Amino acid sequence: MSSASPSEDSPTPSEPESALETARLQLHRAADHLDIDPNIVERLNHPRNVHEVTVPIERDDGTVEVFTGYRAQHDSVRGPYKGGLRYHPDVTRDECVGLGIWMTWKCAVMDLPFGGAKGGIAVNPKTLSRDEKERLTRRFTQELRKVIGPNLDIPAPDMGTDPQTMAWLMDAYSMQEGETIPGVVTGKPPIVGGSKGREDAPGRSVAIITQLVCEYYDQPLSETTVAVQGYGSVGANAARLLDERGATVVAISDVNGAMYDPAGIDTATVPSHDEEPEAVTEYADTVISNDELLTLDVDVLIPAALGNVITEANADDIAADYVVEGANGPTTSTADSILADRDVMVIPDILANAGGVTVSYFEWLQDINRRSWSLERVNDELDEEMRAAWDAVRTEFENRDITWRDAAYIVALSRIAEAHEARGLWP
Ligand code: NAD
Repeated sequence: MSSASPSEDSPTPSEPESALETARLQLHRAADHLDIDPNIVERLNHPRNVHEVTVPIERDDGTVEVFTGYRAQHDSVRGPYKGGLRYHPDVTRDECVGLGIWMTWKCAVMDLPFGGAKGGIAVNPKTLSRDEKERLTRRFTQELRKVIGPNLDIPAPDMGTDPQTMAWLMDAYSMQEGETIPGVVTGKPPIVGGSKGREDAPGRSVAIITQLVCEYYDQPLSETTVAVQGYGSVGANAARLLDERGATVVAISDVNGAMYDPAGIDTATVPSHDEEPEAVTEYADTVISNDELLTLDVDVLIPAALGNVITEANADDIAADYVVEGANGPTTSTADSILADRDVMVIPDILANAGGVTVSYFEWLQDINRRSWSLERVNDELDEEMRAAWDAVRTEFENRDITWRDAAYIVALSRIAEAHEARGLWP
């Protein structure tokens, strides 16, 4: 069985598609290639639990406001649940479920002993003072306290949350448990058990995978041109590492537009989103739009800003040979099929940006062992894990006539299904 089209009963997503639609579509596509018990596929179509809680907080003006929070836990056959917590007005139950399923695939493709989860609160964090955000986080932690923990479910930062949020979560949880438990959450500041190298890790993994793609296709990095959409944590770190390693980064962008220089940008001199928000175009001699950046004739395109930016509308105009997904879900399923027909190689997010969750795993190991690692060790072990995952995906890619994305999902689903088979259904 090696059809590259979705199974007949798999959902047909609309554009822009939701995380849940994509997650289910990918599950069915991968299952079509594998001889898996359909009962396991049916189980994986649904989350194990979705916790919905109300989170009342006192605003600074003395009024009380009640927010809704979620934690979707998808599958824990290979270990505790793992995934981010986001504070964003668009957070919904379904979005948490979809993103939680993605985390299951991401952890499995990296062979980490975790399953997927995602959660968050439907709130605009920009409307909260620091004190309100702290109260919200502490109360949310209390509401979730029975269902999270270092052996149960380990949250991490996501949109609208940061290392400080994770420190409050760790503190609130630890105070209630009566002991300091850093392993309940990752992405903390290093002083309270965070890992060195965590912030840079997703961009670093994007750079490592881009380098492996170039090696695989005999494309010397010194002769490779790269365009990167988004100059934040993922995009700037990926661009700078590739620049350091000899690639020519010709375009980088933020929400205001893109800097373009066909001779190559000195990426170290342009501030990232963290260093000076939304300043890329101020440093540029030539500014182009984000839409133009996506269709530049470069060797490698790295969308590292938002989801659903490569769509049915522009997939025919993508001129890059390789797309390495830095953002989560930058390519819609329809665009993915168009790119596959055009032989544009798309290396999926669940592999390329998985450095974040991988270093989160290292952080958890450091926390439960009460021993911190050097930055050199973190980066060396990340490199090793990325290469191992790449090798597993490459083997499937070579053995079957499929896309890189399908190969990654097949690696992930085979591991999860095998674990379910081995453990069996209880009682
Ligand atoms: P960030 O906030 O650090 O940076 C985002 C960048 O994208 C900024 O430069 C911003 O100006 C730019 N941007 C925003 N809207 C844009 C638009 N409409 N067009 C072009 N550029 C735009 O974010 P990040 O942490 O780098 O995350 C980027 C993507 O990577 C997201 O999809 C995120 O989910 C994904 N991701 C992040 C991590 C992580 O740990 N940071 C891990 C895995 C995946």
